[in-house]
Amino acid sequence: MTVKVGVIGTGMIGSEHVGRLSRQVVGARVSAVFDVATERAAEVAAPAGATAHTSWEALVADPGVDAVVIASPGELHPDQTVACIEAGKPVLCEKPLATTPAEALRVVQAEAATGRRLVQVGFMRRYDLGYIDVKKAMSDGTIGEPLLAHAVHRNASVPDFFQGEMSMTDSVVHEFDVFRWLFDSEITAVTVVPVKQSPLGAPHLRDPQIVLLRMTGGEVVTVESFVNCRYGYDVRCEVVGSLGTVSLDNPRTTVVIGGAGRSERMPADWRERFASAYLTELQVWVADVAAGRVDGPSAWDGYAATAVADAAVTSYGKGERVDIDLAAKPALYA
Ligand code: NAP
Repeated sequence: MTVKVGVIGTGMIGSEHVGRLSRQVVGARVSAVFDVATERAAEVAAPAGATAHTSWEALVADPGVDAVVIASPGELHPDQTVACIEAGKPVLCEKPLATTPAEALRVVQAEAATGRRLVQVGFMRRYDLGYIDVKKAMSDGTIGEPLLAHAVHRNASVPDFFQGEMSMTDSVVHEFDVFRWLFDSEITAVTVVPVKQSPLGAPHLRDPQIVLLRMTGGEVVTVESFVNCRYGYDVRCEVVGSLGTVSLDNPRTTVVIGGAGRSERMPADWRERFASAYLTELQVWVADVAAGRVDGPSAWDGYAATAVADAAVTSYGKGERVDIDLAAKPALYA
């Protein structure tokens, strides 16, 4: 079966997803796209042989669309995701599921009311081979009982529109999800600690910062967020267990030896570092949809990450620890 996918939002990541679905993912084709930027949508639709719709509602209703990818701005995700649920169509919604916990919970409740999983959230790190190895070492006893983790999330730079809080909602939100997944546990409290500011960052960024996460089991995660580190894209972590540690490093591709030195290049950005994770995410999602199921990061995961991001923004403003009180988890996500 070929899964006919409609893509809402053909900006930076939406157009990349269209390319992957059209050229690389087995068993899929892009049958429709929509973007308010109609010229961009038409440009993306043409090489894929897709219809460019005049509204996202028309795309969701199109009988030629079996499943939907949402890559529009985050505040539109809840309405668009709920429309897919109501149409009974599987949907891969880019992060964030919503920009407020209440809106994310609305999606959770809409899906739970149907009694079946239709929603997957675009937390692609769960498909990265490095993170998969870290999870294996944490669960097969290799490092004993996992106790704590240290993580760094550094971007070379961010665009001018990037505000300080966005380091929590757009960047460290990936750590919120991935450490919930690695520890198989919820985050119960978050504290954002200001750090001496880099003289090279815009003053409104308050960059870098340390984010402390406390997990249900008492484990603690420290995340360094540095969105203006200048030298490249650098995402790493080390999990410390009672018997050993496991570290996620940047994937090694090329080592240059010369000039009395040895060097490796850094990934330029998230597109390069996680290219294969995005592809695997889409390939697994398409195969699942063809098999009549949705199995990846759930609407509950999207809600929990949004709740942590919301608490982190509060902590960023107040400089205090903020506890996180999640709603009751519907049985669908047990
Ligand atoms: P982007 O380049 O701004 O693309 C968003 C597109 O959606 C733009 O073309 C925008 O048009 C369009 N749009 C605006 N209103 C719309 C509507 N009502 N319906 C459909 N499309 C609409 O943003 P992006 O970087 O691709 O990000 C899109 C989403 O993906 C965000 O939620 C972001 O957080 C997420 N994302 C996830 C990852 C990841 O690692 N998983 C990475 C990057 C982005 P205009 O430009 O005319 O407003």
